[in-house]
Amino acid sequence: MARVLFINGGSEGHINPTIGVVQELILRGEEVVYFCIEAFRERMEKTGASVRTFDDQKFIKAFISGGRDYLPERINGLLLTADIVIPSVLEQIEGEHFDYIIHDSMFGCGHLLAQILKLPAVNSCTSFAQTKDSFDKMLEPFFIEVSTEIAKPINDKFQSLTARMKEKYDVDIQSPYEVFCNPAPLTIVYTTREFQPDGEAFDQTYKFVGPSISSRFTQENFDFPAIKENNLIYISLGTVFNQAIDFYRLCFEAFKNTDHPIVMAIGNKVQISDLGEIPKNFIVKNYVPQTDVLQYAKLFITHGGMNSTLESLYYGVPLIVIPQSADQPVIARQVANIGAGIQLQMQSLTANQLREAVDHVIGLSSFKKAAAKLRESFRKAGGYHQAVDEILDFKSQYHI
Ligand code: UDP
Repeated sequence: MARVLFINGGSEGHINPTIGVVQELILRGEEVVYFCIEAFRERMEKTGASVRTFDDQKFIKAFISGGRDYLPERINGLLLTADIVIPSVLEQIEGEHFDYIIHDSMFGCGHLLAQILKLPAVNSCTSFAQTKDSFDKMLEPFFIEVSTEIAKPINDKFQSLTARMKEKYDVDIQSPYEVFCNPAPLTIVYTTREFQPDGEAFDQTYKFVGPSISSRFTQENFDFPAIKENNLIYISLGTVFNQAIDFYRLCFEAFKNTDHPIVMAIGNKVQISDLGEIPKNFIVKNYVPQTDVLQYAKLFITHGGMNSTLESLYYGVPLIVIPQSADQPVIARQVANIGAGIQLQMQSLTANQLREAVDHVIGLSSFKKAAAKLRESFRKAGGYHQAVDEILDFKSQYHI
């Protein structure tokens, strides 16, 4: 048995794929100490992990204080969270021994903690993986298009934050890539090489294990008996970029006079009572057990979060992707490229356009076929079982 330090952050999309992994690690004899925000304590404790938390308000405040307009600002934001996460983790594990660390690919400063603690590290990558080259390409527009007046203070901030990390913890940060992608000697990616853009660019330290889907241990009260057939349309913009009251009303407008049964999850930033009259064919909730609902769905209208997209395809459900932010435009493009759905733009969206898009995707069997093909390859990839096989293999390479 080894002791594992698992470092994560505070968002559902980064937590959910790790549930199965942690549960399986524990089943195979590992002891896991899991760091995240308080909101996920219960969910993670049910895996058998010992859960410790850091202050979510301070964490979010630090992240946002980096700025949100440009990617390098978000990188600075991630570095600013180091002041919240690192002292808290170090204090709470003082005097304890760990054999290796598993950390999120974005949140929790795992790459830094691995260096500080001198632990072999595994990266838990909940979005598409990035090589240093592909990441640098993503940064390029900032360096080319943004005026020096704006760019210089952002770059200076990065320099001063990395200098501070060196001074405080004696760790070197060579590039923004390290902060944003937290590279490690082993990276577990929760998709397949086939679905990963430019999948062949990744060496053998990247293990594409497919979606990690397991019970979430949550107890939403959801009336499944009300869903009689496998033909509903499920609509959700995920848990972060979901403050979209106009969009939810547009969905009412698009589908109120249709026969489609609809389940719509609106998140917790909008009140159901603010949406006005709910058409008879809609069930509207703040939150639904998504992986259960998808099993009754013929189509998912989604923001294209990585997890939502993978979960949909895991159940062979075609998608209409309306990307909001972050990695979602890339994911939307990949869904369209692979033929498992189409993408629409939120800015110009009309009720008519949405209804026609639904008719199109439901009407053409090619979308369903492409989704079914991915479903097969996703299931073959092994998910969290495969992830744990890879982690245990990695352990033996390090003689742990
Ligand atoms: N989710 C859920 N019920 C909801 C909304 C979301 O279970 O009503 C889960 C969903 O299954 C997925 C995660 O929350 O695992 C959302 O992650 P994703 O990467 O799709 O999007 P994000 O919320 O990070 O934008």
